[in-house]
Amino acid sequence: MKINPNQVDIIISAVSKEQYPETGLSEISLAGRSNVGKSSFINAVCGRKGVARISSKPGKTITLNFYDVDNQFVFVDVPGYGYAKQSKKEREKWGEMIESYLTGRKEMKACIQLIDLRHPPTNDDIQMYDFLKYYEIPVIVIATKSDKIAKSRIEKHVGVIRRELRLEPEDVIIPFSSVSKQNLDRVYEEIAGRI
Ligand code: GDP
Repeated sequence: MKINPNQVDIIISAVSKEQYPETGLSEISLAGRSNVGKSSFINAVCGRKGVARISSKPGKTITLNFYDVDNQFVFVDVPGYGYAKQSKKEREKWGEMIESYLTGRKEMKACIQLIDLRHPPTNDDIQMYDFLKYYEIPVIVIATKSDKIAKSRIEKHVGVIRRELRLEPEDVIIPFSSVSKQNLDRVYEEIAGRI
């Protein structure tokens, strides 16, 4: 898969179902805790620094952001979960939006869940993964910031994530670095195989 970085654009920042775009393309959603490296991942995959990612900060309107990636597929950026300060109301709103998108959107072929390779998954990570599995949504786990771990220890860290999330042997987990671009080719292959 080859992506023309000049052809990556936000389609819409949607606040409700009625605004989801009709592109005819497959969608790949992206979930992960704030600061996990999602913006960096999107930029690495899209091949440039400048994808103007709209990030959902606590207190801001919760939106689902749709990006047309070179007319090949659509990345759907799911707002980060696990804000410590998120109010109950915000959490509920997050839940409604995300649940209805993830469980009802037929264009969505897989969810990329980003998890920091350096640490065991948090309770939020585990809850998110269980949610995806419960609804039988195909999951690709991207374990971010792999350049921060010695090469000889990467497999051990991958093993911790596999065990704590209770991944099935066939579930895909890819250690990835936006800095070194480790496994970028595997990420392209996975996406290409799903869309
Ligand atoms: P987001 O909040 O999930 O969008 O996270 P960002 O992409 O903004 O990254 C959060 C922080 O982690 C930033 O300081 C990034 O420079 C850093 N970061 C993201 N990906 C990597 C990576 O692969 N390796 C390293 N070393 N740092 C990373």
